[in-house]
Order: sequence, then C-alpha cells, then structure tokens
Amino acid sequence: MPESDGVRRTQCPWANAFWDGEQMAFGEGVTTLDITGHELTHGVTQHTSGLGDGYAGALNEGLSDVFGKFIAIKAGDPNATGANRWLLGVGSSIGQVRDMKNPANSGEGPGPDRVNGRYWLGANGDPHINAGVVGKADYLITDGDTFNGQTVRGLGENKSIALWWKVENLLRPTSTFKDLGVALNSACTANARTGVAGTTTADCTQVANAVKATQLNLAP
Ligand SMILES: [Zn+2]
Repeated sequence: MPESDGVRRTQCPWANAFWDGEQMAFGEGVTTLDITGHELTHGVTQHTSGLGDGYAGALNEGLSDVFGKFIAIKAGDPNATGANRWLLGVGSSIGQVRDMKNPANSGEGPGPDRVNGRYWLGANGDPHINAGVVGKADYLITDGDTFNGQTVRGLGENKSIALWWKVENLLRPTSTFKDLGVALNSACTANARTGVAGTTTADCTQVANAVKATQLNLAP
C-alpha cells in the first residue's frame, strides 16, 4: 500500500518517503530521482488503475518501481546507469532498496523474480516484496535476457515505457498478477496496432515470453 511505503509518520525525521494520498513526504536524503518518481507514480496510479490492497497493492508498488526507474534512466541520472541501471534508491540515505534485475538482492529484503517463486508471499504479505516480479518483468521487456527457460529480446526503453503506461491504464483496483500478465500482452497488441513508439507484433512475442518467464500467466 502506498501509505505503508515508509516508516510510521510519527517517526521524525522520516527515514523513508511515501505518498499519503495527497502529497509526497520525504525523509532526509531520500529525494533521489527514482524514489521521487516512485512516490509520484503512486499519485498517478491512484487516479488511473486505482490499484488497491493485496496483490493489487504489490502491483501498485511494482508500477511505482517501473516508472520511478524509467524517470531516472531517461534523465541520465548516474544512479541509474551502468551497474545501477536496475537498482532503486542508489545515492539515497537509505541505499539500494530494490534490485529489479535480481530481486533476491533487494536491500529492503529479498523478493521473488517470478510468481510462486522463491520469496513469493501471499496476498497479505509486504507489497514491496512481491513487487520484485514486476521489476523483473520490466527488466526483461526493456533489456532482454534469458531467464526461466525463456529468451526475451529487449524492446528498448521507449517501447517499454509506452507498454507499461498502457498497462497502467488497463489495470483495475482489484487486479492480480495474472491480470498483469494479460494486461502486458493486450497492451502490446494495442500499441502494435497503432505503432505506438514503433511497437510491432514481433515485440509482442517478446512480451509474451517475458510474461511466461516471470510466470505472470499463472494464478494468482
Ligand atoms: Zn511505494
């Protein structure tokens, strides 16, 4: 849940950052571009997909990681280049909190890289943990890799950003991880139909491979 993004608000100074439904709050030294983008995305999500609690809450955190990271990458932030490309929070006072390429390495606690994989939690688990699957899917779709028996050719940043933005507008308040898999495929089909960012049907085959690799095609 966005509100649980940081430590309790009564703690001062705040050690983390959070979106409280109306505004962002930041602890000292955590105003990096990716964390700022993460918190702002919670505001966008609130007014688009409206992702709520449970698995939807984990998708909410995952989408904030996705767009927070894209904002830093597109800005050329040194904390989002090279080895830092898929790390969230580098350069902040709280350090690396999420490793989207290798969620098991996330500083905030190891997360799963696939639905029902190692570190996977139930619907009521900490939403930041299962968000690892969303980050892994973003990494695979954008950069490509061979993972879990699937080879994905990366779409590159611009097609991937357009894809995830379409996904944000397809998801609903009670969406599940399986819904995310469906949304990724249908968002690609829609973007390929009108050539958004140059998206092609061949790209959608790659997106489908990434969905299978992260097991987003499986319940829940
Ligand atoms: Zn968050």
